[in-house]
Amino acid sequence: MKVPFISFEKRNQEIKTEVLLEFEKFFDSQYYVLGESTTSFENSFSLFNQTKHAIGVSNGLDALILSLKALNIKPGDQVIVPSNTYIASVLAITNCNAIPLFVEPRIDTYNINPELIEELITEKTKAIMPVHLYGQACEMDKILDISKKYNLSIVEDNAQAHGATFNGKPTGSFGHVNATSFYPSKNLGALGEAGAVTTNDDELATKVRTLRNYGSLKRYHNDMIGSNYRIDEFEAAYLNLALKRLEKWNEYRDKVASKYNEDLKEVGDIKLSKLAQNATTVNHQFVIRTNYRDELKAYLEKNGISTVIHYPIPPHLQKCYQDLGFKKGSFPIAENIAESILSLPIYYGMEEEKTAYVISKVKEFYYHVL
Ligand SMILES: *Cc1c(COP(=O)(O)O)cnc(C)c1O
Repeated sequence: MKVPFISFEKRNQEIKTEVLLEFEKFFDSQYYVLGESTTSFENSFSLFNQTKHAIGVSNGLDALILSLKALNIKPGDQVIVPSNTYIASVLAITNCNAIPLFVEPRIDTYNINPELIEELITEKTKAIMPVHLYGQACEMDKILDISKKYNLSIVEDNAQAHGATFNGKPTGSFGHVNATSFYPSKNLGALGEAGAVTTNDDELATKVRTLRNYGSLKRYHNDMIGSNYRIDEFEAAYLNLALKRLEKWNEYRDKVASKYNEDLKEVGDIKLSKLAQNATTVNHQFVIRTNYRDELKAYLEKNGISTVIHYPIPPHLQKCYQDLGFKKGSFPIAENIAESILSLPIYYGMEEEKTAYVISKVKEFYYHVL
């Protein structure tokens, strides 16, 4: 049996007729940039996300950069970010010529450890960027307390957690301004590049809208030095259709994850991800930790099962950040995670027999191969 790491097959099959109709409508409209579909998606996403505003933008990295720019993050300012995250979180900070201050995650949730934040804060620290990694909400109560105490802004990176909650409130609705990505493989994925900024603050929303479109709200009147960060009109139209199905897609992932959690909980030295109190996950990735990661990955590959490591090199050890002066050992928890985690296949439409096959091969590895 072959098990891909991700597949859009079922999702595409179910949505195809509607998408083709939508495409025809879009094509015939002769209106291709920032049209009705963008407005309509922004409205439905802000409702879903429980924020007053949602602004569609070009992609997730740009959404993060716009969020930081809206907050007036300047060269030399410091932004707190987890040491275990996708590179894009950090790229957003350094693209604003600001400085990332890395905070180690908790080993069992993989998310930023709020207890390690305060000791890093200096006069130059302006913002905290919690990343809801692998689909699980960060401990937003503690992070909000710190932000209030030190008057710091919060920018959530919600690229991986569409639909996750903390204390019943959606991720991407806590921060002063928040960013998300609709890269095709995210829980709410587009057919190409797209992202959004969400906020409850009218002024920040206007700033993001202006910066997104050359720094202009009124055509040929440029108030700020903006850029072109616009969302693609057809992506917005597609995302409108996709958003209606997100809950169903997330529920499906949840079933696959429950099966994995149930059947792998006492297998070998596998450590399963834990949920923080009051946090939920939308299972963007199903991540396990084991001292035999490379051997397990190779064994699964040999048996037709694709797995991925999210992520093999933590940002502080990337070549592009060697000037920051970190080395191996600087962030041991993030490094340990990079060396021991493995993401198992999970996607909408993953057949029960495929999940069962993955589980059986993982068990076989620990009981008969290792
Ligand atoms: C995908 C992702 C991004 C970047 O999104 P793009 O749309 O690919 O630019 C940022 N942060 C995290 C945590 C992501 O997973």
